[in-house]
Amino acid sequence: MRDVIRKSSNSWIVQPNLLNYDATCARFSWEEIRLELDGLPSGKGLNIAHEAVDRHVKGPKCDHLAIRWLGKDGKVLDFTYRNLKKHSNRFANVLGQLGINKGDRVFALAGRIPDLYITALGTLKNTSIFCPLFSAFGPEPLYQRLGRGDAKVVMTTEQLYKKKIAGLRDRLPQLQHVLLADVDEDMGDGVRSLPKLMSGASSEFTIPSTDPEDMAILHFTSGTTGMPKGAVHVHNAVLTHYITGKYVLDFHPEDIFWCTADPGWVTGSSYGIIAPLVHGITNIVDEADFDAERWYSILEKQKVSIWYTAPTAIRMLMRMNIKPTEKYDLSQLRLIHSVGEPLNPEAVIWGQRVLGLPIHDNWWQTETGGIMIANYPSVDIRPGSMGLPLPGIEAAIVHRLDENTVCVVKEPGVEGDLALKPGWPSMFREYLHDEKRYLKCFVGGWYITGDLAKCDADGYFWFVGRADDIIKTSGHMVGPFEVESALMEHPAVSEAGVIGKPDPVIGELVKAFVSLKQGVEPSDRLRLELLGFARKKLGSAVAPKEIQFIGNLPKTRSGKIMRRLLKARELGLPEGDLSTLETSE
Ligand code: AMP
Repeated sequence: MRDVIRKSSNSWIVQPNLLNYDATCARFSWEEIRLELDGLPSGKGLNIAHEAVDRHVKGPKCDHLAIRWLGKDGKVLDFTYRNLKKHSNRFANVLGQLGINKGDRVFALAGRIPDLYITALGTLKNTSIFCPLFSAFGPEPLYQRLGRGDAKVVMTTEQLYKKKIAGLRDRLPQLQHVLLADVDEDMGDGVRSLPKLMSGASSEFTIPSTDPEDMAILHFTSGTTGMPKGAVHVHNAVLTHYITGKYVLDFHPEDIFWCTADPGWVTGSSYGIIAPLVHGITNIVDEADFDAERWYSILEKQKVSIWYTAPTAIRMLMRMNIKPTEKYDLSQLRLIHSVGEPLNPEAVIWGQRVLGLPIHDNWWQTETGGIMIANYPSVDIRPGSMGLPLPGIEAAIVHRLDENTVCVVKEPGVEGDLALKPGWPSMFREYLHDEKRYLKCFVGGWYITGDLAKCDADGYFWFVGRADDIIKTSGHMVGPFEVESALMEHPAVSEAGVIGKPDPVIGELVKAFVSLKQGVEPSDRLRLELLGFARKKLGSAVAPKEIQFIGNLPKTRSGKIMRRLLKARELGLPEGDLSTLETSE
């Protein structure tokens, strides 16, 4: 085995919340965790926004800094818990005035601007559903998500609205209100000035009764065979956000936390908004994109104590010729965590060597709503491993025997499907409007995650790969079908097959193989045109970075594109079982 990073009380800067992993697992109960939260006054249920904001305002945390927002241009805005309560109350009242009720979907399409955080919390207070979108999506992915998610309201900016949503309005008849965060006057056709609405709204609001099982957040995630799936989360998910904040991220009252993920993705909402606020700590939000010097200076100047980031960012930092601890005072930093893609063992060790702290990898996904497998501050790290299941979570490697049965693999080191025992609070409750797809995820009493993994003799889980064709690029999931469908809308394209091509920095890049219609000749000009066409439709987060022309795409006899074969050929790997390959290829 590779080097183990040993943990002992000598290595702790602050005593971790989780001191004894085995003992905590043995006595863990979700009912007891619930008692550490507040609940709505007069027994009116459990609401994420109450736990994240209002409950702190009743006590000594009232004037504690909740969010420090760092603008791209150097502007800084501070929100105490008291301010955050007022702003989110106003937003909840704005929704009420617009006739937006419990269960209605409120989408946010914006960069990391303060209104995004206020929209999230105000929507949850109103018991409407918060649905974040990534601002680098193009019109087509946005249309899919807004349409499937039954969007009634979108909070966005003037530029994003004009560029990406205005042209979709005819196809989105249920979209009633567009709230622009950066205009002072209404623009007609349901396009309203958010500042104007906010200034006319009361800052008093009483959160209505919220059942812990009420739907709270809708997160879209990419599928391999179809369009994106809307994973539904409920207010009870806050128990997972809370306990992972306590045991994994190890929040202590004076911590300053920075999660670099965008709230358009699940990490950015569960941990870039909810978990730190539930713990009443200070949450740093940086509006700007990755920039190594900027990031190190944020760690220094904001005295970040806990940092949650992603392997792509860490690999980019590793490639820079910067000696961070010589140039920056990072002495306040005590924990680094990473999620979203496999974290190379070298990166864990780089952290130890260059930043003086190992990087703690953890694993979870949109459907799980919160961290499920993790490396903990008090537990030895095996670099390259995702760690051990969260107390309260049962994880296993299983083999499918048939459509309804699995067997749990007991021998260590055997590869299989990574599965979780259903029932944790932040487990997704459905794929919106797609029960069949939801039910397919559960086999023989286990939730099958779609990842392949191994478990060693000591219970550490090791990621092997995806069991499907989903692409992970810069930590973001991209469904090949979505990209193929967009390319096929170009008049020159007959068919497209899309794969993830391994990349040393961003994990995988999106590569498309395109076969052209009869009579169309491949050329560099056409390739560039297709790259631009896809980028315009899909946005930079999803569009292919490489396009290769191909005569015919390899297909199964039933007509499915064999993406695995495209990938094997791209990488010069064995082609595997070709018995289902259509012979005309
Ligand atoms: P998402 O639903 O977009 O958050 O993506 C979840 C997927 O990202 C998982 O199913 C994994 O394939 C991958 N993933 C997340 N965390 C890790 C990790 N620590 N190591 C390897 N893969 C990861």
